[in-house]
Amino acid sequence: MSRQSEADNGTAATEAIPDCPRCHKPMPLCVCDGITPIETRISLLILQHPQEQDRALGTARLTAMHFASAVLKIGLSWPSLSRALGGPVADPSRWAVLYLGSAKVADLETDRDIVAINRKGEIEDNQRAILKDIEGIVLLDGTWSQAKALWWRNAWMLKCKRVVLGPKQPSRYGALRREPRADGLSTIEAAAMLLARLLCFLDAV
Ligand SMILES: [Zn+2]
Repeated sequence: MSRQSEADNGTAATEAIPDCPRCHKPMPLCVCDGITPIETRISLLILQHPQEQDRALGTARLTAMHFASAVLKIGLSWPSLSRALGGPVADPSRWAVLYLGSAKVADLETDRDIVAINRKGEIEDNQRAILKDIEGIVLLDGTWSQAKALWWRNAWMLKCKRVVLGPKQPSRYGALRREPRADGLSTIEAAAMLLARLLCFLDAV
């Protein structure tokens, strides 16, 4: 092969598109410059399965950048909520996990779009009291089966409340995602919806 054709083969087609060092997305998809982190009174812990490799559509890192109180951890298991968070947690029962189990808001007798459920997947009696006490949310990021693996490997989540979402709007990422979650939302959509609803409960006190 001549030097010339070698050079031709090495041009644009095979040149890797660089990733943004902050959001880890390919540069053409980066929106970092437009992000101003939002301060919220509710903390966010995003646990990402190590095999979640959806660089183009994944939203975990983006979510963490949008909220000042958000922490993103990549891994499979942690011994406790405080170890996962990297700081003290006074009361894990004031944290809620966005639950992935079979409970669907549509099947529950409610017109709310965020619902606290018990271990049997039934609606808790005092929704208002539970939701207004929530200090932090745990989101499991990955495909449905990856999120499920995270759930089973982190027994401390049993101490947390469980909430489910019933979005009235379909996901904007919708059909693009390979294996949508039961509620059909991307991580960033779920985070935005949860925080918006829970902050309303706090304000109503
Ligand atoms: Zn970026």
